[in-house]
Formats: sequence, C-alpha cells, structure tokens
Amino acid sequence: MNEPHTDSPATPSLYGECFSCEAPRAVLYFDPPHAPLHLCPACFRRQTLYDAANAQLELSLRETVAAWVSVWGETYPRPDLGERFHNLGDKLEEEEIAAHHERRTQTISTQPPMNAEQCRHALECIERTRAPLLAQLAALEEHR
Ligand SMILES: [Zn+2]
Repeated sequence: MNEPHTDSPATPSLYGECFSCEAPRAVLYFDPPHAPLHLCPACFRRQTLYDAANAQLELSLRETVAAWVSVWGETYPRPDLGERFHNLGDKLEEEEIAAHHERRTQTISTQPPMNAEQCRHALECIERTRAPLLAQLAALEEHR
C-alpha cells in the first residue's frame, strides 16, 4: 500500500532562490540525473535553450561518430572521443578567435574617415562619459 504523499525534507520546495543568479522565487528545474534545482524565468529560459542546443549537438555527433565507426572502426582503434572532442573544441575556438580578429581588422581598415560633424559628435560623447568615469576612478582610488 502506498503512503500518502507528504513533504519530507528530501522533497524540494516548488520555489526557492535561483541556483544561477540567486534571484528569489525561482521555480524547480529538473535535469536528470542531477538533483532538481531552482531557476528564475531568465535562467530557466537560457537553460532550456542550452539543453536544446546540447541535445541537437549530441544527435549530430552520434550520427557522425556512427558513420565514422562504420568506415574506420575495424582498422583504427577507437580514439578517446572525449580527448578528440576537446581538441576539436580548442581548434574551433582558435579559428573563431582568428576569424573575429580578421573581421575587426577589416572593419577598422575599411571604415571611412570621420567628417567634422562626426568628430564633434565623438568628442561630445567622450566628454559626456569622461567626467563620471573620472569621478568613479577618484572614488575608487580614495578607498584603496
Ligand atoms: Zn536566475
């Protein structure tokens, strides 16, 4: 016979502090096999997007790895996939950084020189932000 459901200390409460950003009144999020945790709406939305992205990546990798094993599996001992993926991740990150740097360099070199009106506007922006930043810096140095 089943016992009636009761709130035991092991039962997590529906609301709690967000695990990620500590916002109040976050709701329960289940991520098996991990223990349930609380996430606020913004973190909940981000986590579900990550989960969907990870699920799609895993699905793509499974198909690719299965195809690779069907071709190379008998002649090439199965490599440490974790290490292979780690190296691939590092390589992709390096390429992404290089491409970002390349784009920035191109943007800077292809930007036309500013005209007098744009120079005046840029100087006004600098002047508007300069004073509060100097005040903040002075306050920070005062508290050293
Ligand atoms: Zn949060």
